[in-house]
Amino acid sequence: MLNKIDYSKKQIIDMLSLKNSDELNDLYEKAYQIKLDNIGGLVYFRGIIELGNVCEKDCYYCGIRKSNNKVNRFVFDKETIIECAKWCYTQNYGSIVLQSGESKDKNYVNYITELLKEIKKIGNGELGITLSLGEQDEDTYKAWYNAGAHRYLLRVETTNNSLFRSLHPKSHSLEERIKCLDILGKLGYQVGTGVMIGFPGQTVEDLANDIIFFKEKDIDMIGMGPYVRHSDTPFGQYLDNSDEVKKERLELGLKMIAVARIVLQDVNIATSTALQALHPLGRERGLKAGANIIMPVITPKIHRKDYMLYEDKPCMEDDAEDSKINIIKMVENIGEKVVLGKWGDSKHFSIRKNIK
Ligand code: SAH
Repeated sequence: MLNKIDYSKKQIIDMLSLKNSDELNDLYEKAYQIKLDNIGGLVYFRGIIELGNVCEKDCYYCGIRKSNNKVNRFVFDKETIIECAKWCYTQNYGSIVLQSGESKDKNYVNYITELLKEIKKIGNGELGITLSLGEQDEDTYKAWYNAGAHRYLLRVETTNNSLFRSLHPKSHSLEERIKCLDILGKLGYQVGTGVMIGFPGQTVEDLANDIIFFKEKDIDMIGMGPYVRHSDTPFGQYLDNSDEVKKERLELGLKMIAVARIVLQDVNIATSTALQALHPLGRERGLKAGANIIMPVITPKIHRKDYMLYEDKPCMEDDAEDSKINIIKMVENIGEKVVLGKWGDSKHFSIRKNIK
């Protein structure tokens, strides 16, 4: 196909470095065209249920890190989560994402397995399930896969080891996260990863390396978004958070979506909530830059404010802005269509499966 070229690192850096607005628009248009050619002007839903914020990790940037003792910790009970999943099913969302803080506790792991089995019973297994529950042992990933999950999102946050070190305490390891991605792929999951964009110290060369990593690892799905400050974190306390900086991060977030689309072509790319935290139209701009997945927040309102990974997280109080009808309208406004009732699997995954 015409656009299927192997881009060099230099070309990727050049695209990510564009500043001039005409050139940027050309970049977004090119990415958008590649999306149309590969997967069409179609958007798929993933209703995201943030089911708990108990976390064993202590990432320096994240609002629900273990050491943040201002956080009111919660885990939703089974009935509540099943109700959310049923709601997504009746609304024809097609797929859900279960996300939470990270815990390897045996009871928690078993709880998730049981939940998955219950969710799979809804509508005869018609809901697609993506998990975003952090690093786990191979046995756990296998149990969850056997219980019905088929996609897994685990961001590496950055592929530069020294930056990874600056974002995390010593006990956290980039190598371990990459190993988890390999295991997930081996077990048959559609594998998603991504990075945080625009945090201090990160360069466009780092971001170019991240995209090359996605390609080399044959990643099926990309979930990435700009870094957004949380002031109750070590990282959030001393960083410049001016409007200017936020604007730059938003633009870099959009450029990363566009360049990922141009380089990777047929993967699923989510337009992240963090984009919307930086700009009210952030998510639709993400779709225009080449993303094709949107994740409406389904988390019951009672604990949304307890799942503040970063400040200014949208959709906290009323769900109007995230309602099905509003998102469909927003998507139609940009000339695209929401596909309801379908899993919306990664095309890259189907191709990879057929080849191997
Ligand atoms: N515990 C799971 C998922 C929870 S957090 C895991 O470890 O995979 C999901 C993502 O939120 C993280 O991967 C991180 O990239 C993002 N995130 C956390 N804090 C953030 C911040 N301050 N700004 C932007 N994104 C953030």
